Amino acid sequence: MKNLFPLGVVLVLTVAMVAVEIGEGRSVLVMPLPMPISYSGPLPEYCVLKEESSGQERLAAGTPVPMTPVVNGLELGQVPPPTEVSVAPATSEPQIVSPTDLPVTVEPTATPNLGPPFKILHTDDDFSPRNFHVLFVGVGYTSEENPVELAKLIEDVRGNFEGLRVDFAYVDKPFDLAFVQQSTTILFENDQERVELLAVLRSRYPVDSVIIAVKTNVLAGTSLNNGSVIILTSNNPAANYITTHELGHQLGLGDAYQVGYYKPAKFPNSEFFYLDDMPNYLVKALNQLGTMPPMFEAGTCNGRKLYTFYDNFYNLMGLYVFNGPRPWGDSAFTPLQLQIMKDKIVSLRGE
Ligand SMILES: [Zn+2]
Repeated sequence: MKNLFPLGVVLVLTVAMVAVEIGEGRSVLVMPLPMPISYSGPLPEYCVLKEESSGQERLAAGTPVPMTPVVNGLELGQVPPPTEVSVAPATSEPQIVSPTDLPVTVEPTATPNLGPPFKILHTDDDFSPRNFHVLFVGVGYTSEENPVELAKLIEDVRGNFEGLRVDFAYVDKPFDLAFVQQSTTILFENDQERVELLAVLRSRYPVDSVIIAVKTNVLAGTSLNNGSVIILTSNNPAANYITTHELGHQLGLGDAYQVGYYKPAKFPNSEFFYLDDMPNYLVKALNQLGTMPPMFEAGTCNGRKLYTFYDNFYNLMGLYVFNGPRPWGDSAFTPLQLQIMKDKIVSLRGE
């Protein structure tokens, strides 16, 4: 069986190339796909909900599961921190620069109940209208902690987006918002608060992505792509990774975990694709990259074979189990992921 495998792959590849070239509305790959590196062991099946599936997987499958409420970054039952309303001292570590020259797109509208007036600050003079604008909001922090912790998180995350047109700002005051959390998923308890928060922030800043950093050591992160909101838990050592991963989603990247249930509609994405069905933006990025990355077997979705570029064990959107030197170099994202995100920002800015 094993020695027949390479021939089988060659045949599939030939069919795939024809399909890519004749398919309706598809981009044409100018280079042939490489030989896939085969998976050792049985290929994981991603799209079948198993008997022992977790609440998170059942949630993805649409099976009702109870959510755990998180209030002010604390799990229900814990004592909330004293709510300070005093003005945060402008500490010099990290340096806080008031962005007086930032554009205000819309006049402030009626303000929902989001606490005292707030300022939008930058840790760096990185704002440009051509950039993708990320704005951090803290929940569950005291007024003193909030600017310090958010600036620290930004400094940790910024390096992962080097070379991309992304800039980072944050709101100085913590907001009072409540969330529900189930395993690694975290959502607004009342979705109307998301709508109001976005309206208030957009009246003050041309934000593309709002990152709500919830002070809790529960590990959870959710990217609401249509609402341009990321909710994540920030009081844990994985905060940098979660922020970077979720921001990757907002810039067009998909998921590629080696475990867990996925709705079949999740594939193909930037990470997992079929040989005869790759997203247009992935084909475009490959052509721009000019070299073909190594390609690996990744698993199946309802029995259909999935493939991935680069080693998924180093992939921030995938398994991400190795911290050591990455096969493609120093960047946290693969060169292909960086290209996809670059293209996404260009198309967002209508360039
Ligand atoms: Zn993800």
